[in-house]
Amino acid sequence: MKAHDGMYIGGQWRPARGPDTIAVVNPADEQVIAHAPAGTADDVDDAVRAAREALPGWAATPPAERAARIAALRDVLVVRADEIAETVTAELGAPLQLSQTVHAGVPIMVAGSYAELAASYSFEERTGNSTVLLEPVGVVGAITPWNYPLHQIVAKVAPALAAGCTVVLKPAEDTPLTAQLFAEAVDEAGLPAGVFNLVTGLGPVAGQALAAHEDVDLVSFTGSTAVGRQIGATAGGAVKRVALELGGKSANVILPSADLARAVGVGIANVMSNSGQTCSAWTRMLVHKDQYDEAVALARAAVAKYVPGERIGPLVSAKQQQRVRGYIEKGVAEGARLVAGGPEAPRETGYYVSPTVFADVTPEMTIAQEEIFGPVVSLIKYEDEDDALRIANGTVYGLAGAVWAADEAEAVAFARRMDTGQVDINGGRFNPLAPFGGYKQSGVGRELGPHGLSEYLQTKSLQF
Ligand code: NAP
Ligand code: MG
Repeated sequence: MKAHDGMYIGGQWRPARGPDTIAVVNPADEQVIAHAPAGTADDVDDAVRAAREALPGWAATPPAERAARIAALRDVLVVRADEIAETVTAELGAPLQLSQTVHAGVPIMVAGSYAELAASYSFEERTGNSTVLLEPVGVVGAITPWNYPLHQIVAKVAPALAAGCTVVLKPAEDTPLTAQLFAEAVDEAGLPAGVFNLVTGLGPVAGQALAAHEDVDLVSFTGSTAVGRQIGATAGGAVKRVALELGGKSANVILPSADLARAVGVGIANVMSNSGQTCSAWTRMLVHKDQYDEAVALARAAVAKYVPGERIGPLVSAKQQQRVRGYIEKGVAEGARLVAGGPEAPRETGYYVSPTVFADVTPEMTIAQEEIFGPVVSLIKYEDEDDALRIANGTVYGLAGAVWAADEAEAVAFARRMDTGQVDINGGRFNPLAPFGGYKQSGVGRELGPHGLSEYLQTKSLQF
């Protein structure tokens, strides 16, 4: 894989300030495929300065012109979609088809949605005798994870640019090549120098420097709750805006009237996709006691289709593989029943984990409470609807979820009582305009659509 040995700052690739590099590993075969520079606080400082210099010009650029540049960026992503998919497959390990449809396809959709929103959004409102101006917050520090490497970048950068903000991005150390490709696309799309800047590097070094930088106005972070907590505290101390997209432990609630086979099949697919490395994955499947045994059999059959190395890829790193296998061992130790999979690696090479289904999981077990971030589903039995609700809401998280019932209204009535930011009703389709984000410890703020755009705006009211 080709990689840049510098940072994209102020509209050009510049040598990194320090000598250190990050080895990029293909998790399917454990081979080093490239090296990317490991940025320092000095690189971050250069990038923030470039973003600050570019801010007045970009903020004053008419929204229609900003929209045109974002549309151009979307068009470059379309042209380079195959290259994006190959790069994501190489550094994340996702099967190529998933990389094409989701890892390349979704960010193209999201970039397109912000090209339209930037053009149509009302950056001025009237209320009583006031005009309210919706102005860009300023310089954005974006810190992203590896699980959807391009989507996580675009879900921050596109709305920030639409709002008139400028950006410094610190992508995950495991997936810097996709971020470099994105920077190339920004360059090709003709965005003004300094509007978008990239510093690759390690979280505790480059990420920390970006989050703490006094000239960053807003920190937008996606990743673990542990790091998010720290970033929130740093931002709070400096009185700067912060958006946190953190973990999840979402419930897939199958009500007794639902089409059980479909609900279980889609539920398993939801978790197995991207090897379970999805913050919104429905990792807890809640089934009525009278249908439980049938659901277990259906889940076992559904998961058999996910053959490691074919339909399901490896985890991103040896560290994640170890972590997830540890959770599987913990599930066994706490008395859950293995129905499929287990802690043994299914292949000799590559960071694979066996697609795993646990039955007889009780709500307080570790595997039912903590985010595993791997291909592991827990089937939990409920007595009645109130019991299902108590279990569904019984974690510190509240990112997503699903409800299945014969009647949509019945499912919606249940979804209204869930403490979570997004619920799919009977397998509802992904909507790039729907706000995405967490209740409780799943985060602060929303991404996507107009709600995601408003995160990057601040108000100024003029009274007449
Ligand atoms: P993470 O450590 O929170 O990483 C997310 C981003 O933050 C990465 O760019 C990371 O850099 C950076 N970072 C790490 N420490 C930092 C610090 N002290 N200051 C500033 N930035 C910092 O998450 P991870 O290690 O990639 O994954 C661990 C767990 O996070 C997963 O198992 C999962 O539970 C959760 N996760 C959630 C999501 C989500 O979408 N909600 C996505 C991915 C992961 P490095 O890449 O160098 O670490
Ligand atoms: Mg990390």
